[in-house]
Amino acid sequence: MTEPDFDVAVVGAGPAGSMAAMRLAQRNLSVVLVERGERPGEKNLSGGVLYPAPLADALPDFPRDPTPEAPWERRVVRHVTSSVRPDSVTSLDYEDAALLTTTGSAGSTAALPNAVTVLRARLDPWLAERAQEAGAFLMPGMRVDSLVTEPGPDGAPRVTGIRADGQDLRARVVVAADGVNSFLARGAGLRPDPAPRDLAVGVKAVLAMPAGRLEDRFGLEPGQGAAHALVGDVTAGVAGGAFLYTNRESLSFGVVLRLDALTRSGRSAHEVFEHALTHPRLRRWLAGAEVIEYGSHLVSESGHTGVGQVAFDGLVVAGDAAGLTINSGLVLRGMDLAITSGLLAGDAVAEAIEAGDASATGLHRYAAALQASTAGADMRTYARTPALFHRPGPYGPWGEAAERVLRGSFRLDGAPRRPLRHLAVQAVRRSGVGLRTWVGDAAALWRSV
Ligand SMILES: Cc1cc2nc3c(=O)[nH]c(=O)nc-3n(C[C@H](O)[C@H](O)[C@H](O)COP(=O)(O)OP(=O)(O)OC[C@H]3O[C@@H](n4cnc5c(N)ncnc54)[C@H](O)[C@@H]3O)c2cc1C
Repeated sequence: MTEPDFDVAVVGAGPAGSMAAMRLAQRNLSVVLVERGERPGEKNLSGGVLYPAPLADALPDFPRDPTPEAPWERRVVRHVTSSVRPDSVTSLDYEDAALLTTTGSAGSTAALPNAVTVLRARLDPWLAERAQEAGAFLMPGMRVDSLVTEPGPDGAPRVTGIRADGQDLRARVVVAADGVNSFLARGAGLRPDPAPRDLAVGVKAVLAMPAGRLEDRFGLEPGQGAAHALVGDVTAGVAGGAFLYTNRESLSFGVVLRLDALTRSGRSAHEVFEHALTHPRLRRWLAGAEVIEYGSHLVSESGHTGVGQVAFDGLVVAGDAAGLTINSGLVLRGMDLAITSGLLAGDAVAEAIEAGDASATGLHRYAAALQASTAGADMRTYARTPALFHRPGPYGPWGEAAERVLRGSFRLDGAPRRPLRHLAVQAVRRSGVGLRTWVGDAAALWRSV
């Protein structure tokens, strides 16, 4: 191989790429961080609840308070999961002072928020700055078209750099942190294309709202935040859900729709988003809020089975590119997994280069570290959750049954009361879904939790 231009080329300045670049530069390697956006965060969009413990472990100066410089918005103290029907909302509303702080995995991160809301236009530049401070060279506005490969000693292709605008940039190792599409690894035939049922499309808007009004509407103290996950009629019957998060002076609102279900519905993602945005049951939170940003992005829904191989000859794959997202039904996580995998990739690549072995075998230490990490353990814990969300129950029948039982309990219409168990049996019978499906749903739910 000709002398490389950099020790490592990291593609994508999202959470995974910036943290990998930071770690590599901290280990005195020459690192280029290539980002297609003119500015990190420009092309990124997420619902926006970040669990910051892994970030604070790596960056002890991670701001604990939402100062103007802090890359986050509000401490999340209230998590609400709701089934929305045309005329009713059934919610699990969890508010807990214990959510204000966590000790983090290092145990020394007192007063660290457990979860915070973030806007990527603030978070991503902040993370990329940390990589630059450590010595990484940020190259924004450059889209990488493909990986450069050469036959390795055994004849198998070995990644030796990246190609952008017809120019080759050589590196001992490439870190593909290029997000859920991950054209780089797929383009080189190293990772398979996901099936449409393993992908969802997210459509998100940021809606402006003064802090005081937002706190009144969501029942929050100043600086505190709420995270709402919504299923049911909000997505007009399309498998998926909606989210509503509070920022300092705005709301993040969006829908996440499974691609196969969306295609079958004949609707566009924008139509479903508009349906959710104007849903009468959501008016109490969204009325009068002005859309100031709008975008769409894919989300991986494959769970643990989608991770597969993450280390190849001269290449590692991190974050969304490695399929690292968890949708537990209550919580959607991707950013903290991207941060963890980026940090682990950085350490492992540095060790492999120091050991003079950047082959798949030398880089396997990354795969091993990922498996052994909390992120890897959590991916395995939720391995069976995608199977639950491939069943229809969570998107309609469960909410409808809950509505019948609760209506029968709370609505006094002159008729004698029926015991709760009778209401439950009646709700199941009238759901239009057979008993076998209910039993299947219950089994899938049990396995997934
Ligand atoms: C609607 C929605 C809601 C979400 N909500 C949450 C949530 O509440 N909490 C949570 O933790 N996660 C959430 N996620 C998931 C989260 O956004 C991702 O898991 C996370 O962004 C992954 O980080 P990453 O660094 O791997 O990839 P990304 O953040 O996607 O970053 C990839 C970067 O690579 C760049 N790039 C891509 N291709 C190239 C190329 N060829 N050349 C150069 N640069 C390139 C992109 O511009 C981008 O900056 C959500 C996702 C969506 C879509």
